[in-house]
Amino acid sequence: MEKIIVCIKGVPKPETVKVDPERHILIRESAELILNPPDKAALEMAMRLKDRHGVKVTVLSMGPPNVLPILKEAFGLGADELILLSDRAFAGADTLATSRVIAQAIRTLAPYSLVLMGLKSIDGETAQVPPETASLLNLPSVINVLNIIYREGKFLVIRETNYGEEELEIEPPLVVSMSPKLDYFRPPSLKRLLMAKNLDYRTLGAVDLSLPEEILGLRGSPTKVAGVFEKVLVQRGELWKGEPEELAERFLELLRVRGFLKI
Ligand SMILES: Cc1cc2nc3c(=O)[nH]c(=O)nc-3n(C[C@H](O)[C@H](O)[C@H](O)COP(=O)(O)OP(=O)(O)OC[C@H]3O[C@@H](n4cnc5c(N)ncnc54)[C@H](O)[C@@H]3O)c2cc1C
Repeated sequence: MEKIIVCIKGVPKPETVKVDPERHILIRESAELILNPPDKAALEMAMRLKDRHGVKVTVLSMGPPNVLPILKEAFGLGADELILLSDRAFAGADTLATSRVIAQAIRTLAPYSLVLMGLKSIDGETAQVPPETASLLNLPSVINVLNIIYREGKFLVIRETNYGEEELEIEPPLVVSMSPKLDYFRPPSLKRLLMAKNLDYRTLGAVDLSLPEEILGLRGSPTKVAGVFEKVLVQRGELWKGEPEELAERFLELLRVRGFLKI
């Protein structure tokens, strides 16, 4: 098997997120980033395949330089190579502009057998990047995958559907988004986390990837956000206090008044 590439995303810790009211985008630079939780399944699957087949695992992330600790977390889990895709020109990218950068980076990493991603991010939550990247690379794409077995040069991919499980036999290379429902997630190794402190990683920008700026970032994004608003939560519930019999009677009366009870 050739190398496995895992794409992970740094997402803002929900309580630290602010929205730019004019550009209608999240202000990510000031937010504290965490590893997108569903991407843990992609990393765990890669490590299980590495345990079984001794394959090299390259982990990449597109984002500002503050995603570096997340890449180092991946090294703690067993990743061999870390790549940061970072450039001012990438800022404001929608899913298509993001997938263009990721797909181009993946092209430069050939040969590879498998690209693993999370099912969806917890901030954008479109689940579009894995199939879009596969489409740009002209590769098969399988989403919501529970397990991957490599045998006789092919992948047996088990995915969850609305009706049960589906098994597919696919020749490499392919792009997979992993279901977050794995039974076990290994903890990072302390020794590797310490090694990660002084680790070398590669940074690739638009020029390194030979990508023209007009297809990148906000400029290269066909998605237009029409508006962003904060949802105001209206408290509709009532709290009744009293003796159980009294409360039950009051509740029955309410049901009668609303026409739910005819007695
Ligand atoms: C107009 C507009 C402007 C935006 N501006 C910005 C911005 O300035 N900065 C910004 O970060 N986002 C920005 N976004 C959000 C950006 O489009 C999404 O974060 C990004 O395209 C990924 O989409 P998603 O979060 O829905 O990922 P999904 O498709 O839900 O993610 C699925 C999987 O794809 C992989 N993946 C997704 N994104 C990345 C990544 N960046 N690196 C590696 N793997 C990844 C992960 O494995 C993830 O689990 C903007 C969106 C719009 C519409």
